[in-house]
Amino acid sequence: MTIKCKKCNHEAIVFQKYSGMHLCKKHFVEDVERKIKLTIRKDYSIQKNEVIAVALSGGKDSSVALYMMHKILGKRPDIEIVAISVDEGIHGYRPQSLEVAKNLTKMLGIRHIIRSFKEVHGVTMDELAVMEREKGTCSYCGVLRKSILNKVALEVGATKLVTGHNLDDEAQTILLNHFRGDMERMVRLAPPAAIEGLVLRAKPLRNIPEKEVALYALVNALPVDFSECPYAGEALRGEVRELLNNFETKHPGTKYSLLRGFDKLAGALAKEMPPAKIEKCRICGDTCTEDVCQACKLLGRD
Ligand code: SF4
Repeated sequence: MTIKCKKCNHEAIVFQKYSGMHLCKKHFVEDVERKIKLTIRKDYSIQKNEVIAVALSGGKDSSVALYMMHKILGKRPDIEIVAISVDEGIHGYRPQSLEVAKNLTKMLGIRHIIRSFKEVHGVTMDELAVMEREKGTCSYCGVLRKSILNKVALEVGATKLVTGHNLDDEAQTILLNHFRGDMERMVRLAPPAAIEGLVLRAKPLRNIPEKEVALYALVNALPVDFSECPYAGEALRGEVRELLNNFETKHPGTKYSLLRGFDKLAGALAKEMPPAKIEKCRICGDTCTEDVCQACKLLGRD
């Protein structure tokens, strides 16, 4: 027996347990796009003459984020969209996802800039992975990638830097920050305010569950790389992911509740926290919150 869409008579392709709705392809796509547009309007209002940079890895999340930004803003002559990919230097993984990213930008007619860890930081992730390190591989990778994305976004005059973080990523990070008691990081998760030298981050997919992002990419036949990084596996995040997924199965809507609760708290928290000190890194000159930026610290340049 086929299950019908809640909004029409067509066959359903997805069941959203949290909303109780079965949706067909058309109404699923409409639902995802409506939520993304609403998030952009509410949290990241786009003004005239903006340059929107989109961090593009070639994976499902960033590919959907780029596709949607193009779908929403692509026809506006005053808006330029630029895709930025970072080549961390991960053998057997990054080269193929970069090819997928190139295919997508070519398909959409979007300017695409690729910058590598080697060019900017003088080291690849494969080289870092075998070195003696204080922190896990992903900590290095995240900090070095963010620094390159911000640098390139500034170079192209971007006013926003879009990333593909989805609802699962956001809910996991909220819980992780609670577990670590890290209120500063918690506050930084909220839709941020503009700071000179740091391009404003935007996460238009933060209200879309990860599974729906993957399904949206599939039904729109987007070129997407589904392979997994060989260094993936931040232990605590993995545990939080499992915990949240179990909760979501038993109590549908848990991830949305976490995000909604956090959004309400974030404004109040931000008022309580002293404003972050903004400085220039004395080694590389990047904008940061201490006298040496995280990237220079991790690479032992201080
Ligand atoms: Fe970098 Fe970790 Fe992501 Fe691999 S899984 S690309 S090492 S952050």
